[in-house]
Amino acid sequence: MLHILWDTRGYFFWLMAVSLFCWILERLAPWRTEQKAFRRQIGQDFFWLVFNGHYAGVALAFVSSWLIQQLNPLFGKWNVPPPESIRLLADSPWWAQFIVFLLLKDFLEYIVHNLLHRLPILWEFHKLHHSIEELDWIGNMRFHWMEIVVYKAFTYLPLVMLGVNGNVILWIAVVSTLIGHLNHSNLNFNWGFLRYVINSPRMHVWHHDVILRGQHGKNFGVVLCLWDWLFGTAYLPADQDQPEKLGFESMEKFPKTLLSRLVYPLFKVK
Ligand SMILES: [Zn+2]
Ligand SMILES: [Zn+2]
Repeated sequence: MLHILWDTRGYFFWLMAVSLFCWILERLAPWRTEQKAFRRQIGQDFFWLVFNGHYAGVALAFVSSWLIQQLNPLFGKWNVPPPESIRLLADSPWWAQFIVFLLLKDFLEYIVHNLLHRLPILWEFHKLHHSIEELDWIGNMRFHWMEIVVYKAFTYLPLVMLGVNGNVILWIAVVSTLIGHLNHSNLNFNWGFLRYVINSPRMHVWHHDVILRGQHGKNFGVVLCLWDWLFGTAYLPADQDQPEKLGFESMEKFPKTLLSRLVYPLFKVK
């Protein structure tokens, strides 16, 4: 199960390649020219990059395979095929699997991201991602390890149950990371005629806006912004404006040190 789910080493190589690519683009054509490459808290963000980038794969494989093991006997009792035998798309060509699974996973992530903002207990975990004060590529990887459990594991689970090829999962993860990094990058672009389909830095910067966040937020899409346009949560000002301030209300009270952020909100330490 572990090797089918995720090739962690393969993913980590692509994570580094995608990170370098976005870092170079930001140096060549920054949107906010005053922003520094080695800004405050960049060291801590490198920790999140490696911790979430490397251990996400291990945790995902573990949680998803555990869930499938729990579900299998239940399905047997109800006289329906167990999840692992569903494998609806296992014989489809890789490109069909890629498109179907990317759409399915991204739609699930859109729903869960909405919940992270609307359920107070989940918002406490998601605050870490919104504690970003200056948006750049590495901000994509600043998120709580609990999000891996409640968010990523559940969104990859249906892919495994439907019998997706392991390589296709890897490529979906690499493409998701590339678009996620670009969304957070200090770059001024959207995707032209595809701007209502693919998420962009110009849209995602507004997801981090402190004022919109006070109203539950906008632009919840991860790879695709299609869901935001379909369900009325999109916000894209025509004049390419940027928010005045990123974050959330009373952010000054949010813990700053690595240890306190790792254990928040389960334990509160200084
Ligand atoms: Zn969010
Ligand atoms: Zn973000």
